[in-house]
Amino acid sequence: MSYVRTKGVVLKEVNTGEADKIVTILSRSHGKISGFAKSARRPKSRFVAGAQLFCYSEFVLFKGRDMYSLNSSDVIEPFYEIRNDVIKLTYAAHMVDILDDVVQEGQPSPRVLQLFLNALYMLAKTEKSPELITRIFEFRLLSIIGYAPFVKACISCGTQEMDSVLFSFSKCGFLCRACKINDVHAIDISVGAYKTLRHIISSNLKDLFNFEVSEQVLNELSRISKKYLKDRLEKDYKKLDFLKHFNTP
Ligand SMILES: [Zn+2]
Repeated sequence: MSYVRTKGVVLKEVNTGEADKIVTILSRSHGKISGFAKSARRPKSRFVAGAQLFCYSEFVLFKGRDMYSLNSSDVIEPFYEIRNDVIKLTYAAHMVDILDDVVQEGQPSPRVLQLFLNALYMLAKTEKSPELITRIFEFRLLSIIGYAPFVKACISCGTQEMDSVLFSFSKCGFLCRACKINDVHAIDISVGAYKTLRHIISSNLKDLFNFEVSEQVLNELSRISKKYLKDRLEKDYKKLDFLKHFNTP
């Protein structure tokens, strides 16, 4: 019988039958992989800990005729702080919505998994703004899958001497003031937002989350990312709208 042993994070769990569930895992070696977890909802199930939402585990799955079935799950990091905080949970669920659209089944995704793990870690273990963590995750994810905005220079004339910078959604990157005529819909962005975007796209993973921004810059990033995501992935992600009911920090 063929089987898969892989590390991954549980992206989705769907209850089925009396006490079973089907879990979808973002795995290092197989991209998205779904497995049938028999009796996983019973309190004494061997999957209770390792097959929960956002849990990072090492999984063994057996290949059946129609789908994989989960044989074991050994917890590496449960990230329980996320499941216990409705704000963190909502941001993580938003990330999952995007991942679900961009990661294919059977396609190894080690860089995407690493980015997601780093984002979950920041969300669970630090006091860093969940909104900022999510913006970093979004832009970096788009960059990994080949949709990075061009942030090295003006995308039209190539100059790096930019006193004031615009962001062009149609050209996917920065424009200098003189090139605004090439996209009249380009929006002004602050130096802070410009430097932050450049950092998110080009820094190494170790330093990726290692900065803070003003509220104004964060608002700019959020405005840009919402439209940029919508344009690139052709979808309006709605889960964060739920947070409007809360007085978020
Ligand atoms: Zn230019």
